[in-house]
Amino acid sequence: MKSHLLGALLLASAAPALGQTSIATLPPPALVDPKVAMLRDHALESDHYAWDIVEGLTTEVGQRLAGTEAEARARDWAVKTMTALGFSNVHVEPFDMPVWTRGAEGAEIVSPFPQKLVVAALGYSGSTGPEGVTGEIVHFDSVDALRAAPDSAVKGKIVFIDHDMMPAQDGSGYGQFGAPRRQGPTIASLKGALAIVIRSIGTDHHRNPHTGVQYFTDGAAPIPAGALTVPDSEQLVRILKRGKPVVMHLTLVSQKTAGGRSGNVVAEIPGRDPNAPVLLLGGHLDSWDQGTGAIDDGAGVAITTAAAKQIMDAGRPLRTIRVVWFGAEEPGGFGGTALAKAHAGDRYAIAGESDFGADRIWRFGTQLMKTDPATYRALEAALAPLGIVKNDKAEADGTDVDETIKAGAPWISLGQDGTRYFDIHHTPDDTLDKIDPVQLRQNVAAWTAALAILSGGIEPEPKRRPRR
Ligand SMILES: [Zn+2]
Repeated sequence: MKSHLLGALLLASAAPALGQTSIATLPPPALVDPKVAMLRDHALESDHYAWDIVEGLTTEVGQRLAGTEAEARARDWAVKTMTALGFSNVHVEPFDMPVWTRGAEGAEIVSPFPQKLVVAALGYSGSTGPEGVTGEIVHFDSVDALRAAPDSAVKGKIVFIDHDMMPAQDGSGYGQFGAPRRQGPTIASLKGALAIVIRSIGTDHHRNPHTGVQYFTDGAAPIPAGALTVPDSEQLVRILKRGKPVVMHLTLVSQKTAGGRSGNVVAEIPGRDPNAPVLLLGGHLDSWDQGTGAIDDGAGVAITTAAAKQIMDAGRPLRTIRVVWFGAEEPGGFGGTALAKAHAGDRYAIAGESDFGADRIWRFGTQLMKTDPATYRALEAALAPLGIVKNDKAEADGTDVDETIKAGAPWISLGQDGTRYFDIHHTPDDTLDKIDPVQLRQNVAAWTAALAILSGGIEPEPKRRPRR
């Protein structure tokens, strides 16, 4: 989701073209506008909007699987909440999508050492039916090892792919080690496998399976595809090492229906200049179905909405601030695609998303480094007191704003510390208690400072004449 911009950035930083700004030619460091500092510090000390939103959403709605009735209730909740907060033009922009839902699931070793393992189906997995399937396990330590194997080694068997993902502050393991989930099922299916189980794409050692999306491409027929927990995967490796054939009984019941519905919830703070390019920010409203979608991504909608509300409380920005709670991100970024299409004619001053949990923001990057160096310097100065460093090699991120950025919107990225993100991501353990209110406020403070700078200046609302 980030790679298309990386190439361009690397080229640009290696050889700055005419009219582009390299690090060496940036203007001198900026001083922080006292108004921006005041808003930032106020949010850091006392924001309660973000907590109220994520606590309310996860408590009153809970899980919000894309395209389901639960996600529809979440949209109603979002409209009610943002209207009550004073946003304008609050509305739902619906779109269609294929809906996948989970049924019964289980895995057990039949021989040589009968025992139950903990498994969860991956998104768009094929269904085993309620009776399940039984097959011999064939083990690969990477997706490339599976790719290199002859079909005869895989045919009729249950493929198991292992990997060695480790925690990283920038979450960089997810791209590479996510391949078993993203590509493994298709490769296994094309080679004639009966089913596939992978080691969860996670960094914890709890008995929580990590779900996540995958698609069957290249004409691959859907086969059952699941993720074992990390401890269960390690157990399976130990069993395999005993050298005897290992037989598993796997049950992954699921359903896919074509005519599903989701939607983006859109809300605005109208700018003083209705013709100025818009600031677009948000997170995704949908979640996986096992936890309550607190860090992924109740936190993101809460953080960005709270920051916009902090600006609203201070007055009226020059530029319109548009907050979007995107629908159906998890099954494949359907909301982001729908928004880019529905707003193809809109002009943006910036686009950014919060979708990496709620731990503290530690670095930022923006395309403005090249296109608007003075604003970049102002952002750098305003964010530094929050412990946020600049990342000159940053790439655009956020599935939901990806299509809008590809269409030309400048981007900003406020990167959270992801050291523990993949302990919890896409598991039943993604619940409210994982959010640290202090770090949550730091996130709101950073976005508030960024919005205060990017919104073109905030003026107090004119006093209304008292009605007679
Ligand atoms: Zn997410």
